[in-house]
Formats: sequence, C-alpha cells, structure tokens
Amino acid sequence: MNDTPFYDVLVIGAGASGLMCALQSARRGKKVLLLEKEKQCGRKILVSGNGRCNLTNAFVCAADYRGNTQLAQAVLRHFPFQKCLDFFHQLGVLTVEEENGRIFPRTGKSTAVAEALRLACAEAGVELRTESEAVKIEKKKTFKVTLADGQMLQAKYCVLACGSKAYPQAGGSESGYKLARQAGHHITPVFQTLCAVNVKEKAVARLQGVRAQVKVTLWPGTQKAVSNEGEVLFTAYGLSGPAVLNVSGFLGPHLAKGAVPIALDFFADIPDKEKFVRARAAAFPGRNAKEFFAGLLHENIANLLIDFAGVRKNLPVSQWTENTFKTVAKNIGAWPFTVTALRPWSEAMAAAGGVNCAEINYNTLESLCCPGLYILGELLDVDGRSGGFNLHFAWGCGYTAALAMPEE
Ligand SMILES: Cc1cc2nc3c(=O)[nH]c(=O)nc-3n(C[C@H](O)[C@H](O)[C@H](O)COP(=O)(O)OP(=O)(O)OC[C@H]3O[C@@H](n4cnc5c(N)ncnc54)[C@H](O)[C@@H]3O)c2cc1C
Repeated sequence: MNDTPFYDVLVIGAGASGLMCALQSARRGKKVLLLEKEKQCGRKILVSGNGRCNLTNAFVCAADYRGNTQLAQAVLRHFPFQKCLDFFHQLGVLTVEEENGRIFPRTGKSTAVAEALRLACAEAGVELRTESEAVKIEKKKTFKVTLADGQMLQAKYCVLACGSKAYPQAGGSESGYKLARQAGHHITPVFQTLCAVNVKEKAVARLQGVRAQVKVTLWPGTQKAVSNEGEVLFTAYGLSGPAVLNVSGFLGPHLAKGAVPIALDFFADIPDKEKFVRARAAAFPGRNAKEFFAGLLHENIANLLIDFAGVRKNLPVSQWTENTFKTVAKNIGAWPFTVTALRPWSEAMAAAGGVNCAEINYNTLESLCCPGLYILGELLDVDGRSGGFNLHFAWGCGYTAALAMPEE
C-alpha cells in the first residue's frame, strides 16, 4: 500500500499566482497542498510597490506585456481588470486608484493583500506548508514531487508557480526553471527587467538623487528605437526610475554584445527644440548658459549638460554661435548616455524570458509537454511593464489554471 500523501492539486510556490490558484482550486472542491520554500508565503507581494503593493491596473491590456503577448491576452480574457478588482473586494481588501490607473490597497500596505489571500486559502481548506522546497517532479500516472528533505508527495495535477530568479532576497530563484526542465520544457534566455542600468559616463554620479520627467529612448535615431516617457532617477552608477525600468527588459540580449546608447529628452512635448532654444535666447539675451536654464531644468542637470555639451559657462546667450544653439537643442532633446550593464538580479523587480510559451496551452496554462502540469506567472516568458501589470498577470494565471482543471 502506497502511503505517500495524495492531493488533487499540488501547487509549488506560494506567491501571487500560486496563492490564487490554490484558493480557486480549493473553492472548487479540490484537496490542495500549497508548498512554499520560504518561511513565509507571498514575500514578493509584501515587497511589491515599495511595500504598498500595486496589485493591478485599471487600464491593463495585452500591450502592457512583452514576451508572449498572445498568452497574456488569453489570461486577460479570463481575468480582466474588473474581475480582479471584484475578487479583491470580495476578499475584503478595499482599494484606491492612483495616477495612471494603478490600484493599491486602501490601507497603503501590501500586508493587506498577502494576508487576505493567506486567510482565504486557510478558510477554503488549502493546506499550506512553508519551508518546503520541491526539488524533483516526475509524472507517471500521477505526479510525484520530492521535497528537499526527501519527503515524497503525490498529486493528480501539479502547478509550477515558482516565480523567476529576480530579487532573491524575497524568494527569487532558479528553482522553477529546473522543475520546468524536468517536465520537458525549454527556457528562453532569462534577463533582468524592471531594472536600473549602469552607464559609462561616470559624471552622472554628480546627479545622484535628482529626478526628472523625460522620454527615454534606447538606440535613438535607429529603426529599433524603443522609448518610454516618465520619471528618470539619476543614481551613483547610472539611471533608474520608471521610464528606465520600463525599457530595461529590451537590453539583456544586446548588452552581451556591447554597450547600448540611450538618450534622454527633457522636452518630449516640444517637437522643434532648436526653435525653442532660439526663442528663449532671444527672450533672455543677457543671460549666461547657467542662467539660460534657470526655470527649465534642475540646476544640477543643467550644469552637467552644459559641461557635456561644451558650452562656455560665462558667455552671454547673445554670443552663442549657430553650433552652440544646435548643440544645446540636441542635448536637451537627446542627451546621450551609454548603458554598459543591467544592475544585478538582487535589484531587478522581474525577469524577461522564461518557460517557452509555445509549449503551453494559452487558454488553460496546461503544459503541452506534460499533461496535468500547469505553469503560471513570472516563470513564463511574459513580463509586464511597471504599474501593477505583473501582479495582475500572476493573479490571472492562477485563476485561469484553477478554472481549467477538470472537475472531480
Ligand atoms: C521589489 C519588487 C517590487 C514589485 N512591485 C510590483 C508591483 O507593485 N506591482 C506589480 O504588478 N508587480 C510588482 N513586482 C513583480 C511581482 O511581485 C511579481 O511579478 C509577482 O510576484 C510574480 O508572481 P509569481 O506567482 O509568478 O511569483 P512569486 O510571487 O515570486 O512567487 C513564487 C513563490 O514560489 C516560491 N518557490 C520558488 N521555487 C519553489 C520551490 N521549488 N518549492 C517551493 N516554493 C518555491 C518562492 O519562494 C515564491 O514565494 C515587484 C517585484 C519586486 C521584486
């Protein structure tokens, strides 16, 4: 007689997608075991949104994602914004909407979301085991999952909800990729995304802590140019802030081959920069370069930009040459930097790449390599931009898979 514990559904990983899948499966009458390798479940939920948890976005759509957007689209069909909002309200989490459709718990604390999910799972009868890492998964008639301590578990359906290797201090690891490979899956190259960057220009350190609204463009002036508008934060090593984080996912595959040019446009709303500079110079002919920028740019940015552009500091604007006008116009519209590297995984909020979605049924999230296995969330080759899109995708995956599992 086989005395290995048997479950209908074994969910590996008690993060955003795993908690949702376990809860929805248990609500449908299944006997569910939820495994978590850390001491606590939902650690990335807890650190998300600077501890406030930007849990979804009122404008979520497939265009907010990279990687396999068709799979993202299918998940959004099953779990659109309103369903997500209703779900959390029914869980007892009151929410507020902030700028650009970002939704946060009204308490202002991510614990509201993580705790609501943990309690709902317990109430629905989910068995949660923390400090239990799955290290091996085999499929014969049923799934056999081995834990790091050697214990064996069995289940009819198995769910990989292990997340990515980003942010190891909150549970990120390679574990999910290893388990997916054991089940026959291929992993597309994985790179940091929603991640700050190092730049070659060391003088940027002079701007440490300064923020500005910009349009950031990678490979400016080329056909493959990628842009994002928003806030940039200058750091001791380079550039951060939402506008940079949102384009960082494009960098990984290219940085392996060499540095990538990036440009900052401080006046994206002004199409003809040279005309703008000339008009301002005509209005204030007696000002020097530094005074010219007063009221236009943060003082430290203006000083560095003047140095980079090689403009003589004390020369009155009325004596600027044609070349100076062009240089100033070019620099305020496309201030050039050179990205040399992405910051380490411990600073990345998510991973681009992951389990190849061509091996997944988009409508059910069931593995095409290993029937009965479901793969969810950030482990898949889908990543969202900053604004609540990654958590929305994770919840949506958990919901989609749980509903797709056959009734007992
Ligand atoms: C600092 C930070 C801030 C963020 N802020 C936001 C935000 O505000 N809004 C937003 O939408 N997204 C945000 N994200 C991204 C978001 O948190 C993730 O995309 C989301 O949590 C992914 O959900 P998941 O279920 O795929 O993985 P996770 O939530 O990472 O969960 C995976 C879980 O599986 C466990 N696990 C892994 N392997 C095993 C194993 N072998 N056995 C047992 N357990 C295992 C892990 O410990 C982890 O708890 C942020 C991320 C970070 C790091």
